[in-house]
Amino acid sequence: MKISVLTLFPEMYKALEHSIIGRAVEKGLISISVVNIRDYSANKHKKTDDYPFGGGAGMVMTPQPLHDAICAADPDRKALRIYLSPKGARLDQKLVERLSGESEILLVNGAYEGIDERIVTLDIDEEISIGDYVLTSGDLASMVVIDAVARYVPGVLGSEESTGEESFSEGLLEYPQYTRPQNFMGLEVPEVLLSGNHAEIAAWRKRMSMELTAQRRPDLLSASDEKKE
Ligand code: SAM
Repeated sequence: MKISVLTLFPEMYKALEHSIIGRAVEKGLISISVVNIRDYSANKHKKTDDYPFGGGAGMVMTPQPLHDAICAADPDRKALRIYLSPKGARLDQKLVERLSGESEILLVNGAYEGIDERIVTLDIDEEISIGDYVLTSGDLASMVVIDAVARYVPGVLGSEESTGEESFSEGLLEYPQYTRPQNFMGLEVPEVLLSGNHAEIAAWRKRMSMELTAQRRPDLLSASDEKKE
């Protein structure tokens, strides 16, 4: 999968050089190309923002550097072009899975008061939000998208990790996990997990998933009921 990121803060993406995503890039399973929007500014001072028409606080990112950077990064319009925005569709596991089926995605990050709306009209396919709060720029949101999507790219997760039984994979939160030691500060691992009885373990895990989801995220249960109807 090819991921292009357009940003005013390219240094932030060094964070992705580590851990599982860093390994995936090294192995060639995903490529992440980070483009500095400022490099495309035709302004002699490399300006990328200006005052909003109509007045109001803050600055708005001007369309020219963004449009030129997008066209340079995706000249044949092959990528799914996403603008990270608090006004976008809320990112969830279903959306992550859909994005992971794309061969190319291009992530456009706003800053200040956001980007000129004509870029959304001309150049963007989808707007995605990572939650109902406002970040200073789209970059942390882009990194969330990259991390979550990359996990679905074949080969990125080792055999010891999997997306199969995780929280949200079946519309439920995951059951509690335990590892050695069997007793930690007086707290025992649930006996069923030591039983070796796979059917009982699976039934216990399913029950715990249902209970946890009902307690913490009843909205997920009603969403999966609606899907069944
Ligand atoms: N004035 C905008 C508004 O009220 O909708 C907020 C602009 S925000 C300070 C600057 C940039 O951060 C946005 O252009 C967007 O790219 C990014 N951003 C902020 N919150 C976000 C969120 N929840 N999800 C995704 N991107 C976000």
